[in-house]
Amino acid sequence: MTSSGFFGCAGSISNINIFTDAQEVQLGKQFSRQIEQDMKIYTDPVVTAYIDQLGQHLANHSQRQNITYHFKVVNTDVVNAFAVPGGYLYVNIGLIRAAANESELAGVIGHEIGHVVGKHGVKQMTRQLGLTAVAQLALGENQSELKQMVANLAANGVLMKYSRDAEREADKYAVQEMYDAGIDPEGMATFFEKLLNLQKGKPSRLKQLFSTHPPTTERIAAVRSNIAKLPRKSNLKNDSRRFHQIKKRLPPPSNYRGR
Ligand SMILES: [Zn+2]
Repeated sequence: MTSSGFFGCAGSISNINIFTDAQEVQLGKQFSRQIEQDMKIYTDPVVTAYIDQLGQHLANHSQRQNITYHFKVVNTDVVNAFAVPGGYLYVNIGLIRAAANESELAGVIGHEIGHVVGKHGVKQMTRQLGLTAVAQLALGENQSELKQMVANLAANGVLMKYSRDAEREADKYAVQEMYDAGIDPEGMATFFEKLLNLQKGKPSRLKQLFSTHPPTTERIAAVRSNIAKLPRKSNLKNDSRRFHQIKKRLPPPSNYRGR
């Protein structure tokens, strides 16, 4: 989104982004520093290298190539992954463990890349800051006040609460990324199905499970319909030996305490 049109379409602030790519990357760097202080980053070099390679492979086939993507593993059993603006992505150990094959894991990583491609984080920030701040930023006024507002939003986790439309868009990008990267996008659908069933079975215990991107039957149907639109490809990969070797390397799950 360019800045030229936003005063003209104030009615639909939901799709406006006031941040340049450079500002987004700068913001992302700050958030990632904070995240890495607050969360336990898992540093096993073999697991980290695998996640980075899988992530880079997908990112290389994404529709946003003008930023550098960073992938890290978080040492928590919570089944989730998340992205902050600017290409900083985090994959929980719990998610790797819950994936039955490589394509399921790739589906979630692809979805997170989709949020970065769609610039959903900075759009969400723009929406939360409101039009006054948008105008201030555009005019170069009250920069320090604005900086504080941005910091407050980040602290409240506003960044990762995306709209339904954003979730659907990220899914759509992910299907295309996977397909172009030679990975079977069906893995995303089967993983969402699994999450949905888990949530139905034990809602309280698994409340946080993929909580920032709630799977729904509607979403799964949309993913399948996007897959059906793609030309048939016979050699799409859905698993690898390495994925299962990586799973074996992971520390045993601790008692679920949430995070
Ligand atoms: Zn999402």
